[in-house]
Amino acid sequence: MPGHRQPEEFLQFIGGKLCPAQNGRWIDSVDPASGRVWARIPEGEAADIDAAVESAQFALDGWRSRSAAERAAALRSWAAVVREYQAELWRIDATDNGRPRREAEPAVAGAVQQIEYHAGLAETICGDTVNISAGTTTYSLREPYGVVGLIIPWNAPLVMFLAKVSAALAAGNTVVVKPPERASASILAAAQLFAKTDLPAGVVNIVTGEGRTAGEALVRHPGVRKISFTGSTATGRRITEVSAANIKSLNLELGGKSPNIVFADADLESAADGVTSGIFTASAGQACIAGSRILVQESVFDEFIGKVQTRATAMVLGNPLDAATDMGPVAFDGQFDKVKGYLESARSEGARLVFGGRSGRDLFPPGSDYAEGYFIEPTLFVTEDSSLGVCREEIFGPVAVAIPFGSEEQAIQIANDSDYGLAAGVWTQNLPLAHRMIRRLEVGTVWVNTYRRLHWALPFGGQKASGVGTSNGPTTLNEWLENKSVWIEQG
Ligand code: NAD
Repeated sequence: MPGHRQPEEFLQFIGGKLCPAQNGRWIDSVDPASGRVWARIPEGEAADIDAAVESAQFALDGWRSRSAAERAAALRSWAAVVREYQAELWRIDATDNGRPRREAEPAVAGAVQQIEYHAGLAETICGDTVNISAGTTTYSLREPYGVVGLIIPWNAPLVMFLAKVSAALAAGNTVVVKPPERASASILAAAQLFAKTDLPAGVVNIVTGEGRTAGEALVRHPGVRKISFTGSTATGRRITEVSAANIKSLNLELGGKSPNIVFADADLESAADGVTSGIFTASAGQACIAGSRILVQESVFDEFIGKVQTRATAMVLGNPLDAATDMGPVAFDGQFDKVKGYLESARSEGARLVFGGRSGRDLFPPGSDYAEGYFIEPTLFVTEDSSLGVCREEIFGPVAVAIPFGSEEQAIQIANDSDYGLAAGVWTQNLPLAHRMIRRLEVGTVWVNTYRRLHWALPFGGQKASGVGTSNGPTTLNEWLENKSVWIEQG
């Protein structure tokens, strides 16, 4: 397990061996809290992907022909090792992408439980026996795809790696993983642990590098049968186009612009807590399910926004590794610039700034450890015009927009007027109203009087431009299995 000397070098993982990129090149990884290079990761590309797919193909027959109980036992051995090293792993993740300890630490502990959940599901895989005609035996089998490719984003790389790889392996696939180029270190550190588990060499392979090179090489590779992609909707479109050449199965978990809807009869104190943590503590807004559109009924609008402001402006920004930190930085320089661009464009298109708006050196005194970090303070705009870019585009930073509404009908109209359909929150004490909203919101998850809760035992996925397919839940292994139908004529 690597320590925190800087810059630390991390290696790819192919065929059970740690290795640099074949071209010998590296990508610097920056600690976003300080702006300093703290690690280097290999800049793999197509040749590394070829080697990784070959290794996964070599390991496939041995892995898929193991009994489900044997696969489950190997996955449980992996969970035990990750549990032992979880403190080191979440620290590397938080150093690399700025996710605060309060989120990063419990998330890794949850991901270990998710590996165990997937191990249990391995033993439930079964097909159907269907009685079609006398004299003919007809049944279906569920089979793994084979070699599958997983492409992971930077906002929660380690937990997504643990969750998605364990599901794919439980179903009997072998995998090639392409971590995010700006935050690969925790996944590469986790790779160093495989030697301590009962998972055979080659079932998990990891190639780091840029999306357009290493990522696309994985999507194009004819030996890869399925791609699971989590990331932006723009990249999801590109992957859909590229994968069309050899008709790959796709699972896409994409972006969001989720409405958090507060009715006048809600418990406004708890709604303000949920709305504030739904966008600002959510990894500084870098969560696909961030509640970035705050819809508030007109009669309580000013009162409610005041409560959110009190909470948001009291938040502690600073070292992500510190348990007292509420909000860390955004994950890297490009995202920092992108979010600052949205602060400008929201103002110029006419949204009114209620609080926040400062970033970087304006937030910390000169000489502070964090003055060169990528910090943006919690920021709220208000507008009545939900056609503005700040209401429609995923900013992926600690920036929300509040929109007043009059009636239930208007709340639904504004909430559903979005390309995205990932999640929504509803705050009300009126149960029939809550049920009507649940039915009419065009999203994959609805929270009522709570927000941003996920669990591996409940399905999660997006509607509209937020994705295709689901993860989590008792049927999650179906995403990793194909059906085969069998007819036996008994003569
Ligand atoms: P991104 O799309 O820029 O990158 C995600 C991954 O795709 C990275 O590993 C990247 O290297 C790779 N990639 C980029 N271009 C590629 C290409 N042409 N071919 C193959 N791979 C390519 O996304 P991001 O900025 O890293 O992550 C943030 C986005 O992820 C947000 O939009 C967020 O909403 C979304 N997200 C969605 C979920 C969900 O479950 N719906 C969860 C987390 C994040």
